[in-house]
Amino acid sequence: MQKPTALVIGAGIGGIATAARLAKNGYAVTVLEKESTPGGRCNQIIQDGHRFDIGPTLFLMPEVWEETFASLGEKMSDHLELTRIDPTYKVHFDDGLRLQLTSNIGDMQTQLEKVEKTAFTGFLNYIAEGGRHYKVSLEKFVGRNFYSIFEYFSPGNLPLLFQLKALKKHYANTGRFFKDERLKAAFTFQNMYLGLSPYDAPATYSLLQYTELAEGVWYPKGGMYAGIQALVRVAEKLGVKFIYNAPVRTLKIEGTKVKEAKLEDGREFVADIFIGNADLPYIYKELLPPSAEAKKLDEKLYTCSTIMFYWGVDKEYPQIAHHNVFLGGDYKASFDQIFQDHTLPDVPSFYVHAPARTDPDAAPKGQETLYVLVPVGHLDARSKQDWDALVNRARETVFTRLAREMGVDDLREHIKFEIVYQPRVWQERFNLEKGAAFGLSHNFWQVGYLRPQNRHKEYKNLYFTGASTHPGTGLPIVLLSARLTTERILKEAGTIPVQNLNYAASHV
Ligand SMILES: Cc1cc2nc3c(=O)[nH]c(=O)nc-3n(C[C@H](O)[C@H](O)[C@H](O)COP(=O)(O)OP(=O)(O)OC[C@H]3O[C@@H](n4cnc5c(N)ncnc54)[C@H](O)[C@@H]3O)c2cc1C
Repeated sequence: MQKPTALVIGAGIGGIATAARLAKNGYAVTVLEKESTPGGRCNQIIQDGHRFDIGPTLFLMPEVWEETFASLGEKMSDHLELTRIDPTYKVHFDDGLRLQLTSNIGDMQTQLEKVEKTAFTGFLNYIAEGGRHYKVSLEKFVGRNFYSIFEYFSPGNLPLLFQLKALKKHYANTGRFFKDERLKAAFTFQNMYLGLSPYDAPATYSLLQYTELAEGVWYPKGGMYAGIQALVRVAEKLGVKFIYNAPVRTLKIEGTKVKEAKLEDGREFVADIFIGNADLPYIYKELLPPSAEAKKLDEKLYTCSTIMFYWGVDKEYPQIAHHNVFLGGDYKASFDQIFQDHTLPDVPSFYVHAPARTDPDAAPKGQETLYVLVPVGHLDARSKQDWDALVNRARETVFTRLAREMGVDDLREHIKFEIVYQPRVWQERFNLEKGAAFGLSHNFWQVGYLRPQNRHKEYKNLYFTGASTHPGTGLPIVLLSARLTTERILKEAGTIPVQNLNYAASHV
């Protein structure tokens, strides 16, 4: 019997994992990727012996990765060599306070009690709450599909939304555990990985701190891109065909179905089902015929963007840890400037990644590979956004604070080359709507059933996988998206799923 055919648009982690799962379940799968290599936001840059991960640097929730490999008949440990990074971060406050977030409870106690007498008890309670949020979210909301609004707001789920504090704001809720503003900041800035402000994010996201400290922050040897390479290897072994330099220009419709994908160079591909891994709002707006749905997506909330510096440096700076966070200025005002004014805060906060601390192959011997992420507002046609000026100001801030707080005062002279990403690059290179680096936002109204679903309402053979559909952004969450999209495809095709489709029941 001929295999059913599937065409995946985009070789981001979501596209690769969905392609592999479909191949494992009997589909003949082709992936079309506009770039010359797979990975999307999780791609890498290699220049003059320096290796940079472009986007993700924190390998979180290894159990989700393990489940992905297992569902494909593989063992993660045969593909990835993981090292736990602990302390996870060094956090620098601009008044001189330093905290090393660590799973070493004794160390945390000493550090926290120096700042606030009751902070250690607060910390234990906060992590316990984060643990509850993590388990309930994964089991009841993030690790499953919702096929109707009634399933989402079911009598069983409604009390859980309260239990998860989905309507409370994360920053405000942190006040129950800590009084010191710096501690509230230290335990909420992680919202920025989801591109969210802790003043808007649901208090549910205390699960992030639990994930980091209890489940661990890991680093795969070879960088985050090793995860992409491993998944592509497995997908190819299962028969998936990847076609690179293949940007899709349009999806042709016939009745209530997508009939074919047409590339910029005119090539046409037909298939039984189509899976969009490119950013969902971009697919609605640019690849499909105009629709009311596409217009509605314009009104949704988007995550922030980032200015990135990738620096190849001819000197080593051992005082820079693997992960370093620099928080500055008025915490609330800086989020308002990012999320409301869509600009760079007057006093920007930023994150520095120095992978050679853990993996010497990331830089030539005696040299340094530095990645700097500065959160900024996304593209906004209504705001005056002079990106060159904002990039220059961000760079100066980084130089000033590294000199003042780490004694790194000669970096400028030791940078051999610099690569800069800013919101326009995110938009142009990966077709991310508004250059929002993390996709659609995750406020209460844009999660679960309320997030754009992983199947098009009208075109019944068009599915989605990736950061802007259910469940959301972040590598492990996108791996779950691949699982849930595959589950839906198999269910709707009437195939008896080979995999155990209830993630939560089997893994939490
Ligand atoms: C700066 C930054 C830091 C991050 N840090 C972390 C972290 O530490 N940990 C973590 O877990 N997550 C992190 N994330 C989030 C994570 O990177 C994303 O959630 C995830 O990579 C998204 O994967 P995806 O498959 O949804 O999309 P993408 O990676 O965007 O993949 C989509 C693919 O579609 C392709 N495409 C687009 N248009 C077309 C077209 N017309 N035709 C063909 N192909 C097309 C693109 O080129 C791309 O390869 C970070 C993200 C960023 C930007």
